[in-house]
Amino acid sequence: MRLSFHGADRDVTGSCHLVQCAGRHVLIDCGLYQGSREIAEENAGDFGFDPASIDFVLLTHAHLDHCGRLPLLTKRGFRGEIIATTATQELARLVMLDAAHLQEEESRSNSHRPRHGTDNKPAKPLFTVADTLKSLESFKRSAVYGQPTDLTQGIRATFVDAGHILGSASILLELTEADRSLRLLFSGDLGNAAHPLLLTPAPPPRADVVVIETTYGDRLHKPMDASTDELYVAISDALGRGGNVIIPTFALERAQELLWMLNQGIEKGRLMPSMQVFLDSPMAISATEIFARHPESLRAEAARLFREGRDPLMLPGLHFTREKTESIALNNIRGGAIIMAGAGMATGGRVRHHLKHNISREECCVIFVGFAAKGTLARQIIDGQNPVRILGDDIPVRASIRTINGFSAHADQAELLKWHGYTGAGRTFLTHGEEAAMQMFASRLGKTRVEMPTLDQSFDL
Ligand SMILES: [Zn+2]
Ligand SMILES: [Zn+2]
Repeated sequence: MRLSFHGADRDVTGSCHLVQCAGRHVLIDCGLYQGSREIAEENAGDFGFDPASIDFVLLTHAHLDHCGRLPLLTKRGFRGEIIATTATQELARLVMLDAAHLQEEESRSNSHRPRHGTDNKPAKPLFTVADTLKSLESFKRSAVYGQPTDLTQGIRATFVDAGHILGSASILLELTEADRSLRLLFSGDLGNAAHPLLLTPAPPPRADVVVIETTYGDRLHKPMDASTDELYVAISDALGRGGNVIIPTFALERAQELLWMLNQGIEKGRLMPSMQVFLDSPMAISATEIFARHPESLRAEAARLFREGRDPLMLPGLHFTREKTESIALNNIRGGAIIMAGAGMATGGRVRHHLKHNISREECCVIFVGFAAKGTLARQIIDGQNPVRILGDDIPVRASIRTINGFSAHADQAELLKWHGYTGAGRTFLTHGEEAAMQMFASRLGKTRVEMPTLDQSFDL
């Protein structure tokens, strides 16, 4: 039995882990590297294994940094089966097709524009919509939380609710090879137990070896109530000053969570029902529709409202702007609006236009509600860079900048330690985190042999 690491190693994006057992090859996730342009170019590199040799891909959840290289895997010869929960399949379809459209769009615009640097060749898309549709055909079986699936002789997989985004899972592999058995558990991304919409991550099963994410391995979240309060105050202040509020938003979870909290804010009298809220992200709009179909993953109150046909994500002043022209029209709004748009780390997407039009106006407010990786525009703004470069221009930062970290979709250090404690694992691999966070987390783990794999490193189990 062998375990090797091909992404999110001492890094937060590009998750991809390979298990070899009983002559079979099983991949856990196949995510895209995200962040700066240099990091993005790593996506085009070798996987570190032969895609044609992979028999199964088990997908923990639909975030791009976990499913984004699947179309490329298929393009390079993968012909096996991809297994995920139904909600993950529905969301992954959205996310993967969106990424493919973006790839095609970027390569088209690059071919018209002369490029700086040495080569003037237009950049080819990493993968196309056609590659993605072919990859989506590999989703044949659905995983159900808690129900073991026999992949083949000697490999059994069980998905457990990870409470991170809709459909997310930790995955237990029960491996048998030459009379030796081993329980190998992948955490996937673990959710924040204080999430207002999703169920708390399920306690994981016992395991011999654990591969665990460490995004927030070095810190504790602020309590959710304090964070919600900060959000209401920041919004009321900016709207009261006659400005707009821009919230760079991850489409899959944060957008729905924010809609829920804005709704609650109106009900509790903390926010004005007359405020105009724009969800300016076709993907977030579609994801919001998928939420309504999966009450089984939601906390009791939200599930009840959906079952009763009373959508708890609907607001009096909510507008869905799918079309690009509608999005551009938002540039004319000078005040009174909350605009939520992707990308969450402002690495691309419509939010960059909204930042460009609002960040230099002191009556406005930009609120960051998610993780911001090194090298991203979000991180530059959070770190106080001024001016910041947005869409080719240097823009002075005069708007108030708020970072609210209690809304994280990730478990904090205490929750990660608690989750790890349930597993009783004697050997632990740390992934999906920046190195400093890993070091800190490792120092807090009790009796277990800790490894921090580097890219393409391989271990005998
Ligand atoms: Zn995730
Ligand atoms: Zn992730």
